[in-house]
Amino acid sequence: MSSHPLNLYELNLADLTEFLTGLGEPAYRAKQIWQWLYRQYTPDFATMSNLPQPLRDKLDANATLDIGPIIAEQLSNDNQTKKVLFQLADGQQIETVLMRYEKRRTLCISTQAGCAMGCIFCATGQMGFFRHLNSGEIVAQVIHFARELAAEGEHVTNVVLMGMGEPLHNYENTMTAVDRLTDPTGFNLGARKITISTVGLVPAIRRYADEKRQTPLAVSLHAATDAERDKLIPVNRKWPIADIIEACRYYVAKTGRRITFEWALIAHENDTPEQAQALGRLLQGMLCHVNLIPLNPTQKYGGQPSSRARVNAFQQGLARYGVSSTVRVRRGIDIQAGCGQLKATVQK
Ligand code: SAH
Ligand code: SF4
Repeated sequence: MSSHPLNLYELNLADLTEFLTGLGEPAYRAKQIWQWLYRQYTPDFATMSNLPQPLRDKLDANATLDIGPIIAEQLSNDNQTKKVLFQLADGQQIETVLMRYEKRRTLCISTQAGCAMGCIFCATGQMGFFRHLNSGEIVAQVIHFARELAAEGEHVTNVVLMGMGEPLHNYENTMTAVDRLTDPTGFNLGARKITISTVGLVPAIRRYADEKRQTPLAVSLHAATDAERDKLIPVNRKWPIADIIEACRYYVAKTGRRITFEWALIAHENDTPEQAQALGRLLQGMLCHVNLIPLNPTQKYGGQPSSRARVNAFQQGLARYGVSSTVRVRRGIDIQAGCGQLKATVQK
């Protein structure tokens, strides 16, 4: 790892200052570079026009701003969704997706190369775990698209941690990256605009609650009975539904925030009246909302998305318990915009 040059997006302002003083530079240079990094999204040191040339050369020799080359890219037919596959310094590949919807410019970013949780319907879970991303690799995905959008006079409005990987399995680096993106002296994205999505790592949910973080939390439930969830999500054996719901109630009590539950509707699997009823009972009276997303089919899982009629019936089943839900459209379906799907396609 140490053979790779330091990516400056791994540093907060204090670290950057230390790095520059280590290079024999005055501290104020760090502030100048910080502006280039988080306000201009400058792609290289050469264009940092207020730095003396010898410093730019020194930075070139010792550091980088580059997350790595894009090795595959796909644009949806309607041009609204764009997915890129980055190759990182050590050869690992990760996906980032830009979704344009009305005035929103939402990025779906990765927190790990692969994922250790093994959800059977998920393309990332199917490939297994390679490694955690460091905070710079998480932040740099956002900066890449911020730069691209800025060229069109636009900016990133929302970030969802729903790309490859389980954010709470890589807790420290993920929260460091989130803190960097919300830093008012830097990128300054509102914390409410960054959604953390988790498969349900119970101790990490409690820690997240204790830290009273402002970033919204989404929990990927996908089943309301352990018998069903065990089939889809292996880690459910370690932290079953009752424990997850208890941790979610703890989160709501601690923070006063609404929690979102994600539910990928799989035809005749988890879209039955029994599952709707079980979910309604589970969530009744809780400050929460359910996102229903018809399954994105993947290569190694035979499940199919639920029909419109079954989606509607499921939603009505929840409404009987006073549980609110929204049916999400699968955007970018023609470009395998589900997490892990571009890498899986490229490797095939
Ligand atoms: N590991 C985290 C975040 C990344 S996955 C988590 O599981 O929440 C982001 C979301 O995509 C999760 O809700 C996940 O369950 C969902 N997902 C994964 N594969 C999918 C598929 N094939 N179709 C629909 N949703 C899927
Ligand atoms: Fe990992 Fe989330 Fe995919 Fe499950 S759904 S394998 S937790 S990325």
